[in-house]
Amino acid sequence: MKALEEKICREGKVYPGNVLKVGSFLNHQIDVPFMQQIGEEFHRLFQDEKITKVLTIETSGIPIACMTAVCFNVPVLFAKKHQTKNLSDDCYCTEIMSYTHGNSYQARIEKQYLSKDDTVLIIDDFLANGCALVGLMDLIEQAGAKCVGCGIVIEKAFQDGGQKLREMGVRVESLARIIRMDPETGIEFID
Ligand code: 5GP
Repeated sequence: MKALEEKICREGKVYPGNVLKVGSFLNHQIDVPFMQQIGEEFHRLFQDEKITKVLTIETSGIPIACMTAVCFNVPVLFAKKHQTKNLSDDCYCTEIMSYTHGNSYQARIEKQYLSKDDTVLIIDDFLANGCALVGLMDLIEQAGAKCVGCGIVIEKAFQDGGQKLREMGVRVESLARIIRMDPETGIEFID
């Protein structure tokens, strides 16, 4: 998606540890009309699937998932990273290694919101090593639901998550794929 690549180059900042910050439109402040275009693009890519639910993980996946779900007219379900008092104990649960925090955490969804009758599209902001997506697919599998694929806004293609998942037969659609990024020389994309 050309407009996304241009926006990443204009507004993104490369940090040590291969972290890209896009706080101006995706990870802190949300550019809502732009997220709407992103949602429409995911809808265009997956429109032939009979999706019943869009699944993501808190926090930054939520706005993108909502914009996508509006196009499909289905609910968004987001995995929670913390056990809270208002979350039932009757949950599907999986362990995920956090790329940005460097530690692992339990992701949970209440069983009542995902069943074997669901056909699920996963949406997330970034794909790096693929741990978040593998965890979300595990939750879908525990529920006996079907996963039609993953829609990713920014794939860091120099890390191996995308390749690993595609080799597993998962359909991964990334709207921008970064092949190289460096604080000095900038950001380069591949198709
Ligand atoms: P993975 O699980 O694929 O290793 O990492 C994906 C998750 O880590 C995403 O949900 C995202 O929140 C976070 N993440 C990974 N790399 C980056 C990055 O370069 N920038 C930001 N903002 N988040 C990232």
